[in-house]
Amino acid sequence: MPDTKTMPKVEKSEAEWRRELTPMQYAVLREKATERPFTGEYEREHRPGAYICAGCGQTLFESDAKFDSGCGWPSFTQPAVESHVAEERDISHGMVRTEVLCASCHGHLGHVFEDGPGPTGLRYCINSAALKLQPK
Ligand SMILES: [Zn+2]
Repeated sequence: MPDTKTMPKVEKSEAEWRRELTPMQYAVLREKATERPFTGEYEREHRPGAYICAGCGQTLFESDAKFDSGCGWPSFTQPAVESHVAEERDISHGMVRTEVLCASCHGHLGHVFEDGPGPTGLRYCINSAALKLQPK
């Protein structure tokens, strides 16, 4: 069962985030960087568990929803709890994409695409640096 507990809104100054996060986590979560494909810690991860936000600890994805998309980043068909992720239209880099954010700390996680497998048909393409796996 996913941890459905919703974290209160987390607001920290950029200086606080910079202190608490690794440089890679900061770049992804706070500056919307994208890690290079096939380099992330969880790209080939198959252990069962819950993926929590590296910024605030909120449960974001379950290993049950993880699939091997071959795209180079951890991919999920759905969030653990719908309300734990927020989505925003992203028109950067000359593309129209849907950005995925942590609903609690508003950290950038990745993007969601409509080319995933069933039943959702969605592919949440998420940076490893934004996640922490809590193995079961
Ligand atoms: Zn968060």
